[in-house]
Amino acid sequence: MSAEHDQENQPETQPATVSGEETAVPADAGILPDPEELGFPQPPPTVANKLGLVKFNLDTQPHLSIKNAGVCQRRCRQKFCTHSCPAQVYHWESEEKRISISYEGCLECGTCRSGGCPYDNIEMRYPRGGYGVQYRFG
Ligand code: SF4
Ligand code: SF4
Repeated sequence: MSAEHDQENQPETQPATVSGEETAVPADAGILPDPEELGFPQPPPTVANKLGLVKFNLDTQPHLSIKNAGVCQRRCRQKFCTHSCPAQVYHWESEEKRISISYEGCLECGTCRSGGCPYDNIEMRYPRGGYGVQYRFG
């Protein structure tokens, strides 16, 4: 490799004063490189990763409930709510033959009361003022 080629690859420098003496520091000193350029893995923009930005102020009073447990047990074979809820709030407890609800993780998207349960068997209110999900962007 030639000396001329080496010079071309040197980072641009600019003068700086250290203890009263002028010295040369790279122009990009202090600028962090792009992690992607360094090969660090970036989290894919999945729903799960985006949910990492969300905060919850937990209410002690559940805002979700099943209207008729018998409908879940005997009529609804597919347990649609366990698939339609993006926060996976609903779980089918096969031994107990009932739906359990982890209302603490509810994103208040409204899916479960607008088609998420074809039997209209979910009672969904919004949490009390100041409680529930708090969305953050960024
Ligand atoms: S989709 Fe509706 S009826 Fe079916 S298990 Fe869920 S709440 Fe029950
Ligand atoms: S409102 Fe949305 S996140 Fe909350 S339980 Fe219903 S479907 Fe799930």
